[in-house]
Amino acid sequence: MRIMTAIISYVRLTAMVCMFFMCIASPSVSADVLPTRGLREVNHSSVELQGGFWGLHQDIHHKVTVPHALDCLEKAGHVTNFDKAAGTFDGPLRGNHAFDSDIHKALEGALYSLQHYDNKPLAGRVESIIDRIVAAQQPDGFLISCFIVKDQAKRWENLRMQHQMYNAGHFFEMAIEHHQLTGDDKVLNAAKRFANHIDGIFGPGKRYDVGGHQEIELALIKLYRVTGDRRYLELSKFFLDERGHIHGKERKRFDPNTLPPHPPKVDHLPKSERRRALFLAKWSRRSGRMQDHKPLVEQDATGHAVRAGYTYSAMADIVRYMGAPDYAHALDRIWEDVVYRKMYITGGVGTAQYHDEGYGDPYLLPNNTYCESCAGIAHVLWQHRMATLKGHTKYADVMELALYNGAISGLSIEGDAFFYQNPLQSKGGKRSSWIGLACCPTNFTRFTPQVGGFMYAVGKESIYVNLYAAGTASTKTEKGITVKIDQQTDYPWDGNIKLTVTTDTS
Ligand SMILES: [Zn+2]
Repeated sequence: MRIMTAIISYVRLTAMVCMFFMCIASPSVSADVLPTRGLREVNHSSVELQGGFWGLHQDIHHKVTVPHALDCLEKAGHVTNFDKAAGTFDGPLRGNHAFDSDIHKALEGALYSLQHYDNKPLAGRVESIIDRIVAAQQPDGFLISCFIVKDQAKRWENLRMQHQMYNAGHFFEMAIEHHQLTGDDKVLNAAKRFANHIDGIFGPGKRYDVGGHQEIELALIKLYRVTGDRRYLELSKFFLDERGHIHGKERKRFDPNTLPPHPPKVDHLPKSERRRALFLAKWSRRSGRMQDHKPLVEQDATGHAVRAGYTYSAMADIVRYMGAPDYAHALDRIWEDVVYRKMYITGGVGTAQYHDEGYGDPYLLPNNTYCESCAGIAHVLWQHRMATLKGHTKYADVMELALYNGAISGLSIEGDAFFYQNPLQSKGGKRSSWIGLACCPTNFTRFTPQVGGFMYAVGKESIYVNLYAAGTASTKTEKGITVKIDQQTDYPWDGNIKLTVTTDTS
């Protein structure tokens, strides 16, 4: 499949290069709230991927994927939905409940990319779309177009199926990158207003409930990092802790909203297996699809693989910022369940055995499988966080495996065609130039320019190299020593890697 065979042979036994510095200097200064455990990431903005495999991908992403995604989304009405919500457009409301998240994700990708490329026309286009989005924000901070247009009284109803939290989380992530690029607080303040609104409704002593599609959890931690407002970190932890519970302690009862919207297809199965397949599909929807059937700390890898990947990512961040040893133990168990029993040789995840775009039974990994692109991306994001939390090679290895094989297989080399599913075996399926349910294309738009941020991590007196790619990076050790790294390689096509490290003490 794609470049899989070539790449796997290059996956190295050790990904960690440590360099020790004995000098004493003052601590580094950063606006970022640093984690109290594990390693520190080197932000993508400090890493320039030049030439080679990833340099080329960054160029294509900037020149092709970003404008293509914005064109498709504008054409499909993702932006005019906000105009309608702001009262400046009289046309129809388009799309589904998750529609807002798609434009937030594409803008986030553009904002990542603009931190590396000087492109005034694109920057102007992005700014103008964002202004139209923020114009729809309500006085109390709420900002989801379809509810503003249709029925504000139903804003927070049916959280399982209507993606309110998912939309909000992607708005926060986009706003953070806008702030990183421009230094301007305009959009970040809009995100804070929306987050404060949510924090005013949900939490201990308020409403005990969770969204049906996780994402806000990891976005709130990012918002905490940028703003220093601990309420966002606490709210993220609340949403994670509350899964599998009602009102903080009781176990969740069966929720009819989690019934499958369409009965699974069973006609192709022998009669004796149909009842079991139907039962399992229903069971999965009722309980594990949204990782809400029991507390996260008691779960194995279950349910929708995108939701799962984002959840585990947030849990890993919570461990780094809050300790949470119960989350740390659960992540160890879930990681082994995924990597040893439920992950493809490509690093892809999610067999959709239970018709839920999710994890199936252990060791049951058929070739004509599902492996949604978003699940591959979420898997990489999680593995990156595990590598940063633990500083262990095995997480960086799985991240690399999934990055090259289970994730970017969904994006064409030309940057303008996408797979939703990434089976190991197909009958000649072709990537589509766009997908109406645009979660995967827009996820690629925001994922490719993040790759530089996965490459390095900083420990007490060491720098970790997670990935090999040509380019330069600059960071500071905890003791404040500036370290510049120049990496020359044609990896993954060639295994030779030359690292030149200089410090301000050398
Ligand atoms: Zn997707």
